[in-house]
Amino acid sequence: MNADLGPDIATAAAAIDDHTIELRRAIHQDPELGLDLPRTQKRITDALTGLGLDITLGESTTSVVADLDSGRPGPTVLLRGDMDALPLQEDFPLDFKSQNDGKMHACGHDTHVAMLASAARLLAGNKDSFTGKVRFMFQPGEEGFHGAKYMIDEGVLEGVDRAFAIHVTANSPAGMIATRAGALLASADKFEITIHGAGDTRRPRTTAPTRSPPWVRRSPGCTRWSVAPSTPRSRAWSQWPTPVPARPTTSSRQWPGWRARFDPTTRRPATP
Ligand SMILES: [Zn+2]
Repeated sequence: MNADLGPDIATAAAAIDDHTIELRRAIHQDPELGLDLPRTQKRITDALTGLGLDITLGESTTSVVADLDSGRPGPTVLLRGDMDALPLQEDFPLDFKSQNDGKMHACGHDTHVAMLASAARLLAGNKDSFTGKVRFMFQPGEEGFHGAKYMIDEGVLEGVDRAFAIHVTANSPAGMIATRAGALLASADKFEITIHGAGDTRRPRTTAPTRSPPWVRRSPGCTRWSVAPSTPRSRAWSQWPTPVPARPTTSSRQWPGWRARFDPTTRRPATP
């Protein structure tokens, strides 16, 4: 997708604000967990109906994939939003408080669904402004249920050139976008890696930790990270290579143009 929506995109998004908020609150009121979210799926397909999208429902989960074709050749860009809630009790006097005991959209995925559905609506109404295709990926089971894996197995990434996702956060003011290099938020997933390799006698054996972190499984013969057993564990951990330093957060503070175009109080573009 090569888009040329320009600054009008903020105005266009604001124009369907009510629609976005209404969908978000409907989903917030009716949270569902895991991979089986039939009512959330129905709300998504209802929101996408009539936009000219090619909609595919998941076979192994209640996912939704919707394709938008500009009719002109170009890359395929995937936009992804997760759908599932958390097993928490909502205890806040909201008009649109969760009606399902022990379930709550505490992570904001209700917002992600509404944002993605509205992105589909905006782009479907502006097909002349981009080339290529856009694929909208509504993913259940983000909170530790491997929802993305099921969708990938069903082919959601086939033909996709780039993929983007966004997560709301209460740590930044409304109207601000922030990012950084590397990991940004906690994840409910875990993974193990196996390092295969031979020992390297050129490396001093005392500069590495006494043991791998618990998420690393060393294969037999891999001695690269081993040190003298007498190294205190605390010292070993302090010697574990630190991740690549993150670049400073990029935010709208560094994009004055964005901030000038958007009023976080009214959630509408600021009048010049
Ligand atoms: Zn989340």
